[in-house]
Amino acid sequence: MIEALEEYWIGHEPFYNEVDREVAMFEAAYALRLPLMLKGPTGCGKTRLVEHMAWKLDRPLVTVACNEDMTAADLVGRYLLDANGTTWHDGPLTMAVRHGAICYLDEVVETRQDTTVVIHPLTDARRQLPLDKKGELIQAHPDFQLVVSYNPGYQSHTKDLKQSTRQRFLALDFNYPPADLERRIVAHEAGIDSALAARLVTIGEQSRALVERGLEEGMSTRMLIHAGRLIRHGVDAVAACNLALVVPLSDEPDLQRALKNLVDAHF
Ligand code: ADP
Repeated sequence: MIEALEEYWIGHEPFYNEVDREVAMFEAAYALRLPLMLKGPTGCGKTRLVEHMAWKLDRPLVTVACNEDMTAADLVGRYLLDANGTTWHDGPLTMAVRHGAICYLDEVVETRQDTTVVIHPLTDARRQLPLDKKGELIQAHPDFQLVVSYNPGYQSHTKDLKQSTRQRFLALDFNYPPADLERRIVAHEAGIDSALAARLVTIGEQSRALVERGLEEGMSTRMLIHAGRLIRHGVDAVAACNLALVVPLSDEPDLQRALKNLVDAHF
């Protein structure tokens, strides 16, 4: 085992309920070492799929939560002053490239364009990462793969992924799982019975219809799981749904009232 990445191996199989052949598609992308983009709303299973696949493909997983303040150095690394003078420290992307991990850049569109370009030479036939500050050009380890996620729903025109970036990736579309699968997922993840999970999933589905009435995004599978866990923990259902579903989703009093009505209709 590579010492540098010891903590990035996934010990147990992460539960993943396949929705539409995405496991096989991921495997094909990995077999050809092609970069992969997962598109879809927050909390619908993108990260869980990557965790599951890293386990299944027996690769370490290096995850980076991207944000707009992130610089190229945050990804590739930098010289830092320590007791021995200045020493180079690999960033998470460089670690993954050197040692053959799957590198998952979560919400890649949040990064600035000058940061995104560092992944370009990695995502074509070159599979190289230049470390300009260090004067080193790394050839990616044969097992390295780049996976990114992004939520098209959030994007403003100025924050869209550039064609020069998106055309380098294979892409899988994600959405909330169909009701019967989502019920199974919520029941499993929250440790609740199927009937209770079904009620939460119905509330979730109805909340998604409110997007047409101004709600930015409907309740995610993740939120439904939170509600289920609270109920299992002993919180009464209406209070749990308020805490996990209604209040987090919107600051608008009218929308909160509409969401609360949804909950009241089911509990
Ligand atoms: P995101 O799309 O934001 O990366 P996650 O992968 O973190 O979302 O999903 C949120 C939670 O929903 C996960 O922690 C997991 O419990 C659950 N989940 C969503 N979809 C699935 C699925 N298909 N199989 C298993 N769990 C899922």
